[in-house]
Amino acid sequence: MFDSAVNTIRTHIRSNRIDPIETEICGVPIKYENYKHERDTWDEWKPLLEEWLPKFDERNYIDGLNGIHIGDGYMNNSSSQGQYNHNDVIIMIQQNPTFKYPSSFISNTKEYVLLHETVHHTHINSMFDKPARDITVSELNNRQHELRFVSRMKDFDKYVSEYASMNYLEAVAETFSGVVLGNEYPSIIKEHYTELGGPTPIGGWNEEDSVEQSLTRRNINGVWKKETITYKSNAD
Ligand SMILES: [Zn+2]
Repeated sequence: MFDSAVNTIRTHIRSNRIDPIETEICGVPIKYENYKHERDTWDEWKPLLEEWLPKFDERNYIDGLNGIHIGDGYMNNSSSQGQYNHNDVIIMIQQNPTFKYPSSFISNTKEYVLLHETVHHTHINSMFDKPARDITVSELNNRQHELRFVSRMKDFDKYVSEYASMNYLEAVAETFSGVVLGNEYPSIIKEHYTELGGPTPIGGWNEEDSVEQSLTRRNINGVWKKETITYKSNAD
């Protein structure tokens, strides 16, 4: 009775917030911000996490990921649907991602947001010869110039999504999600994607093909090798 009185008060103070759901899937700690009115949402997130995390895990795509936090209260920037914080190595996602400009993205579903944010982790970690937490923002920005992203922007805008033309990280996250969700893109997009260091899409673009081989080679060498670029540009 005492417990229930305390719970009643606490619940009231936190305006319907109840204890977070904490679990672990494929070794990744999952936190779900639990509100009375958001309980149904966990029933949507759980099967998505259980479907996709093992697929990422099989490919070593979520090595080193410290957590996935689902809930508006976990977001640093409340206006974004999802975030990957490479310094803390954590993914944060809104409970019910809402899009102000829905047509700017390849999709607007929870599944899409999960794929998009998770591949940021995979991509950033495969591109640098050190752990994600040690990568600086200027290193990320410099890579953008080295990869000549500006000359590829138009193609991503035309064939993938407006958001994919923002920068090389969004280009990779949008394209990966698009391929995995069944979209088809012209070969120029695959070429750009490969040169931007995009990880082989799960179940797409023949996982055994040269994309994977070139990524593996790059990882072993630990450095970006300009001579492996086969990029053909129709821009300057
Ligand atoms: Zn993103």
